[in-house]
Amino acid sequence: MRFYNTLTRKKEEFVPVEDGKAGIYVCGPTTYNLIHVGNARPYVVFDTLRRYMAYIGYDVKLVQNFTDIDDKIIAKANDEGVDFHAISSRYIDEVFVDIDGLNVMRATHYPRVTEEIDDIIKLVESLIAKGFAYEKNGTVYFRAAKAKDYGKLSKKNIDELEAGARVAANPDKEAVSDFVLWKAAKEGEPFWDSPWGCGRPGWHIECSVMARKYIGNTVDIHGGGDDLMFPHHENEIAQSEAAMPCCSFVNYWLHNGMLLVDNQKMAKSEGNFFLVRDVAGEYSYEILRFFLLSVHYRSPLNFSKELVEATANGYERIKNCLRNIEGEPSHAENANIEAFWGEFCKAMDDDLNTSNAIAAIFDLVRYANKDADKECLPAIKATILKMCNILGLKLEGDAPDVDVAEIEALIAKRDAAKADKNWTLSDEIRDELAQMGVVIKDTREGTKWHLSN
Ligand code: AMP
Ligand code: ZN
Repeated sequence: MRFYNTLTRKKEEFVPVEDGKAGIYVCGPTTYNLIHVGNARPYVVFDTLRRYMAYIGYDVKLVQNFTDIDDKIIAKANDEGVDFHAISSRYIDEVFVDIDGLNVMRATHYPRVTEEIDDIIKLVESLIAKGFAYEKNGTVYFRAAKAKDYGKLSKKNIDELEAGARVAANPDKEAVSDFVLWKAAKEGEPFWDSPWGCGRPGWHIECSVMARKYIGNTVDIHGGGDDLMFPHHENEIAQSEAAMPCCSFVNYWLHNGMLLVDNQKMAKSEGNFFLVRDVAGEYSYEILRFFLLSVHYRSPLNFSKELVEATANGYERIKNCLRNIEGEPSHAENANIEAFWGEFCKAMDDDLNTSNAIAAIFDLVRYANKDADKECLPAIKATILKMCNILGLKLEGDAPDVDVAEIEALIAKRDAAKADKNWTLSDEIRDELAQMGVVIKDTREGTKWHLSN
């Protein structure tokens, strides 16, 4: 599989830190509101990446944080006269409603800043001890200019950053480019005790701590929107590599493009946002997911109801095709179908090109509707379902409730167990498949399957 790596600005073959494993860290939302369609994009994109990588055999770990303490959360809590925890936990619950609706698989971990304070303090202490950070009036700053290659991700030059800074100079900072690791608490704000007095973490430090703690010293893939590349991701690198000079923090940086409205970034602060909840109510969660995958993840995507409607029509074509194929999906060797499947995988392997992968689904739908022999149709149905399963599209109400991608992954696991002469495991998998209603047959051409009636 190849990825466009923002760090090198090149497409590169994916080589994991550890054979067969993939550790993915994605920056999650600040929880003071319901999520909008822009926030849903990284959820859906990196969930699709995870599904595909798992399908092709990686043991994937995906970690996505919640920023559950922040100025905006505190402001909302003050408005409502409640504790900040009440706000962040309310909106974290709401995120789960939306991402479950979008069929996003649960991440391996969802760390929250307020539960990682001790480790954050330890990392800040170590950065001070190494000379990368300093305390002033209860706030701790990172010396950006001291970090090796600061600016390497966003391609910014530290001297230009210094010269170009227009923000009013903070007299406590040694240099304009220095950034906050730990913030002294203001009157009335929530705080934690620290060696520097009462305060709370700065924003960037949480991701450095969580990525290392839940994934390891080097993260295979770090995701997030391209709005976070600078300063957030640049600062994550600076902190992590200063603390651990032996390891590069992240091997592949993947950034999704922005969801736009009339060519402006969709943002809570701009007020030009569409809530996932509202769009799902008007269309459906699955149409929204399909819409978000309809273009390559790095391209900007303009949101409009007309575009969502066009997407809904396309989605209906796939569902119609499946509806019109009588009988249950089943597996059969067929060179034509293999060619469509090959196109799908080629697109997904090429920097997760879901747009081309969806084009392969439409090609197969066209083939099923026009040229295909009748006896191929159950296998075409199985292949379309497999493609949709990998993209996390449920085809609600119109497809048999079977996850072909999962069935095939289990069959591959059983084939490997058989090759290892691990008959216990291979029998266990056969039983698991049987419980799912899948009958398998070992043939000279490999394992075939169909659904039991
Ligand atoms: P935030 O709560 O703004 O920190 O955003 C949470 C996640 O959503 C981050 O990965 C952001 O990059 C991403 N994000 C925010 N706004 C947009 C947008 N308009 N389009 C795409 N991704 C976005
Ligand atoms: Zn982050």
